[in-house]
Amino acid sequence: MSPRGWALLTLAGLGVALLVAALVLIPWQRPPAPRADQLAALRDLPTEQVERARQFRSALRPGGWTALGVGLLVALALGLTPLGSRLIELAGRPFGDHWIAQAVLGGLAVVLVADLVTLPFSAWRHSVLTRYGLATNGWGGWAVDLLKSYAVSAVIGAVALLGFYTVVRLAPRWWWAFGAAGAATLVVLLSFVLPVLVEPVFNRFTPMEPSPLRSQLMELAERDAVPVRDVLVADASRRTRAVNAYVSGFGPTRRVVVYDNLLREATPAEVTAVVAHELGHARDRDVLAGTLTGALGAAAAVVALYLIGSWPPLLRLAGVDSVAQPRAFGLLLALVTVAGLVFAPVQALMSRRVEARADAHALALTGDPAAFESMQRRLSTVNLSDPDPPRWEYLYSASHPSTVERIAAARAYARKVGR
Ligand SMILES: [Zn+2]
Repeated sequence: MSPRGWALLTLAGLGVALLVAALVLIPWQRPPAPRADQLAALRDLPTEQVERARQFRSALRPGGWTALGVGLLVALALGLTPLGSRLIELAGRPFGDHWIAQAVLGGLAVVLVADLVTLPFSAWRHSVLTRYGLATNGWGGWAVDLLKSYAVSAVIGAVALLGFYTVVRLAPRWWWAFGAAGAATLVVLLSFVLPVLVEPVFNRFTPMEPSPLRSQLMELAERDAVPVRDVLVADASRRTRAVNAYVSGFGPTRRVVVYDNLLREATPAEVTAVVAHELGHARDRDVLAGTLTGALGAAAAVVALYLIGSWPPLLRLAGVDSVAQPRAFGLLLALVTVAGLVFAPVQALMSRRVEARADAHALALTGDPAAFESMQRRLSTVNLSDPDPPRWEYLYSASHPSTVERIAAARAYARKVGR
């Protein structure tokens, strides 16, 4: 069988593996959150708060969607016209057209151009966040964060580009197989490394100070049989007023992180509700599941890029002979961008289901639906989230159930256990 035949077979295998992983790991059946309870929850929220959140979201919307559209157009312009390949040649020229210069500098140049065209929209977003009092870092802090994230992406990107095009040179016929394995490995590696190496670039993490609340949280984790070495506090307040908590890493790098804002703003019972939700993620191994599906997805993407990228009309548009050339990186980026937009709603749906399960876990673990509900109100108030967002936007991009869904789930739970 030809490499192409093997690639088709591999892609089918990865597709089946992804489907099985999604079926097994994602809790498709969500706990009840009746619409009647949702509407009642919406009525219970202060009208002016809901109005303000909706104004804020409407203010963000035009820029957000335009940025998405412009980003897509530019990616297509770089990938489906010879613009991208010319830019890559240009980047390699001072280095005698060496393939490493084309692969790394050219690849990063293409990504940078694609990022820079959406920069005005990011700035505009920051101005809206500042106007509504959500951003606290000013333009200086915003610019520093931006440069840091460019630097982090450049380092990770350079390693990935160099690795990828080295493999292509060493195995011109079978690069897609090694590339797929490499992409999957990179996803797993980043899952371990990001919390330890990258998160500290943006925030300072300190172990939570000893307090009755801390003891309560550690006791909660113990009762939940989730080994948590520590609860870390992130100095998020230097950037935002938003409150949040998350769990990242797994195995030795697993940590529960709470924003300092959360500890300042919320009651201990509410913080407990949030941490109980995060423990749910840890207990159900959601980070591991996300990493596994991410790794399978990345491997499938490489094989799919190989197959789609060898379609002659595409190569002709991009002005390249083969998708494996560094000069064809623009084409790869365009395909990845389109795939990202197409699969966004699927990823959002899976995320919402996983989040709903963590909510159910928090309710069962704390047995305190009242605190859970007041936490949801607080999250929605402080973060200015639309408690009941437009359906299309929710379906396309919401990573979490809406505030009214989460409150409705708490109320349904309270009824079920008779609280
Ligand atoms: Zn969560």
